[in-house]
Amino acid sequence: MNIIMLGAPGAGKGTFSAYLENKYQVPHIATGDIFRENIRNNTELGAKAKSYMDKGELVPDELVVSLVVDRLAKDDCKKGYILDGFPRTMPQAEALSAELERTGSKIDYALNIDCPDDFIVERMSGRRVCPKCGASYHLVNVPPKTEGICDECGSELIQRKDDAPETVANRLKVYHTETQPLIDYYREQGVLEDVDGTIGRDNVFAVLDKLLG
Ligand code: AMP
Repeated sequence: MNIIMLGAPGAGKGTFSAYLENKYQVPHIATGDIFRENIRNNTELGAKAKSYMDKGELVPDELVVSLVVDRLAKDDCKKGYILDGFPRTMPQAEALSAELERTGSKIDYALNIDCPDDFIVERMSGRRVCPKCGASYHLVNVPPKTEGICDECGSELIQRKDDAPETVANRLKVYHTETQPLIDYYREQGVLEDVDGTIGRDNVFAVLDKLLG
């Protein structure tokens, strides 16, 4: 089962991808997580990506596409995968289609996690992450057991630089211009499913269960 997660930043793609990863035992490939891991490990790719990410801009297509193409060639993707945060532009979607055609594969579902902008802004202002292990929390919806401290590794939680209000506004603008057109692209391919992302995590899980069987 090959799945693409579409939706604005903060729509919950990461949470729903992790749920499906666990349920179907297929890898969850999140390009944002890959970049953040590279930043934590001080790699060259991390340094390149950081300058864009901090401003809420997209990392250039050529950096992202090769990274995903290499990842999809790994053995664990043979039984399926969940792409979270990729593709994000039409050139990325077209590059993915070309690669799938080349390898005789296809996307089964593009899940559009739909949330209005004001909902996203409210949610992202409360998001806190662990700079050490990458675990994600929300001040109200998913609070850590001890305020400000990561449940997993005990580090102090921070707000992601790109979750700051002015950066969120820019990320939403970029989402509407660059990524939203992909909804029609996948609708035309007959694989798009709209999912209301505002109904609460467990309700979305139930919708996904029904959709994917
Ligand atoms: P995310 O965690 O998916 O919200 O991604 C965080 C940031 O990583 C984005 O705001 C972009 O700067 C960068 N990024 C992640 N995935 C992509 C992608 N497919 N194309 C370009 N930039 C990306």
